[in-house]
Amino acid sequence: MNRNDTLAALRERPDIAVLVIGGGINGISVFRELALQGVDVVLADKGDYCGGASAALSRMVHGGLRYLENGEFKLVRESLAERDRLLKNAPHYVAPLPTTVPIFDIFSGIANGAVRFLGLTRRPSRRGALVIKAGLTLYDLFTAARRLMPRHRFRGRGKTLQTWPATNPSIRSSATYYDAWVSHPERLGLEMLIDAMAGSVSALALNYASVGSTEAGLVLTDTLTGETLPLRPQLVVNATGGWIDLTNKAIGAAAPRMIGGTKGSHLIVDNRELHAALGGHMVYYENEDGRICILFPYLGKVLIGSTDIRVDDPGKVRCEDDERAYILQSLAFVFPSIAIAENEIVFRFSGVRPLPASSDSFTGRIPRDHFCEFVEPVSHLPATLCMIGGKWTTFRSFGAMAADMALERLGLTRKTSTEDLAIGGGRNFPADPENWCTALATKYELSIERARVLFERYGTSAENFAAHFTTREMLPQSEYFAGELHFMIEREQVECLADLFLRRTTIAITGGLNLALIDAALALLAAHKGWDTARTDAERTAFLTLLEYQHGVSFSDISKANDKRSALCA
Ligand SMILES: Cc1cc2nc3c(=O)[nH]c(=O)nc-3n(C[C@H](O)[C@H](O)[C@H](O)COP(=O)(O)OP(=O)(O)OC[C@H]3O[C@@H](n4cnc5c(N)ncnc54)[C@H](O)[C@@H]3O)c2cc1C
Repeated sequence: MNRNDTLAALRERPDIAVLVIGGGINGISVFRELALQGVDVVLADKGDYCGGASAALSRMVHGGLRYLENGEFKLVRESLAERDRLLKNAPHYVAPLPTTVPIFDIFSGIANGAVRFLGLTRRPSRRGALVIKAGLTLYDLFTAARRLMPRHRFRGRGKTLQTWPATNPSIRSSATYYDAWVSHPERLGLEMLIDAMAGSVSALALNYASVGSTEAGLVLTDTLTGETLPLRPQLVVNATGGWIDLTNKAIGAAAPRMIGGTKGSHLIVDNRELHAALGGHMVYYENEDGRICILFPYLGKVLIGSTDIRVDDPGKVRCEDDERAYILQSLAFVFPSIAIAENEIVFRFSGVRPLPASSDSFTGRIPRDHFCEFVEPVSHLPATLCMIGGKWTTFRSFGAMAADMALERLGLTRKTSTEDLAIGGGRNFPADPENWCTALATKYELSIERARVLFERYGTSAENFAAHFTTREMLPQSEYFAGELHFMIEREQVECLADLFLRRTTIAITGGLNLALIDAALALLAAHKGWDTARTDAERTAFLTLLEYQHGVSFSDISKANDKRSALCA
């Protein structure tokens, strides 16, 4: 359904069962759950889908080895179960990731768990081999019944340096275990949204639609046109992550403070030596200050992160220069001989972890678990169910939990579960991808290489893309067919260049942008939207400004825009 049709439907039908505010991965998850039960549900996000924390993650789909020392055993067990489900339900975007922990001590860190248990908080000391062994043994135990990936193993100093010669020579040993990573988290969120709407006529979703209230009740504002629409849901789900408290205030919910978010930033680096040094592994290491950092090969580049800094307003974060320096310093600690040049940092990104409000002085200690709380109705507002916390990995179980509470409130029962439900291009996933690609290439007269690229990008949805191509034209200086972006513009609720380059594709995050490509995509978008020259130019400026301000990506033809924010939807 296109934007105009969705708005028309909402104008006609303001009385709905559930309004989900927030189209990050958790809002999308509860939306999908409710849509599958046949509930009349509307989702609104003030920006694009998965434009907040759900685009800023470390891209790990993991149990959370580190959370074991905080005593969060239930969360780790649940996360591992969800990780394993995602490996099956979304094999096109979620894949196993061998992960290696460099170890510099043997005994250190044992006190961490005990100190936590006694309710004392302090910065952790270094984690030694025994602590890591205990954590990995639990990891193996929690996954023993499914055993989708190999058990952990240890390597001594000699074997470690032989396998990863660039590692800091003061290393004592290393441990390797398996977790998973997600290549296209934003697309996976979008696919769930599309799946949900395809399966239910009473499920509607709108991006660039903010929710607030007046004395008369809830109001949806189309942020692209300024139009306001009244909405009268029986129940509200506040799934706005780091914005939960701000949203409760905006809608007039009488709620206590729920969130104490922390900002985390990452760099994407294009350095061959570093890429090779990883040998296909994630390195999950402790920086000198005791914080866990990660780096792993990400679509031909290397993703490195992250920081952990308390913030109040999630709308105002970006990766600052001191965070960039921190991340590079942490890298120098683990791979001291590898230097990263300024121009090898091809992208920066930042977001806010929606952590529950906490007085813990060390941010790494704040619980990573999720839970839901009802805020009872007031005159103009129905009950509001707030989704607090939550990792990307656990979106399904968190969405299911929220949906069950919503169903109970509405007096409805669950009809179906998402536990084994394949997502988007993970449906009908072939046992033999090479055969599948050959068949796709033959059917749509593509080269086998192109068919493989489409399959890597979209899983089995590659066929929808291929069937849509009217020409084989490639976009300038890029590895994309014009038809791919055209398909997204027509079918995937794209409103601006940032939607296309930051969230529907991985072009920006992998450093693949250039002005020729941006202009070609802009021409496609402007033609589809019927934009005049002034609107088209404004969109170009807004996107280039956003890229420079938010992601440290600049092109020579725009002026320094470091203190400006983008004015349009970007
Ligand atoms: C640095 C970092 C690293 C992380 N790494 C990992 C990881 O590797 N693995 C993992 O599992 N998890 C990770 N996480 C956690 C994970 O990303 C988040 O927990 C998850 O994405 C939160 O999703 P969400 O839907 O709750 O929030 P968000 O994705 O932030 O979505 C909230 C949405 O609400 C919208 N909104 C706000 N106010 C309004 C309003 N008034 N009206 C309408 N819409 C509104 C916003 O626009 C936003 O899109 C990481 C998080 C961060 C920040």
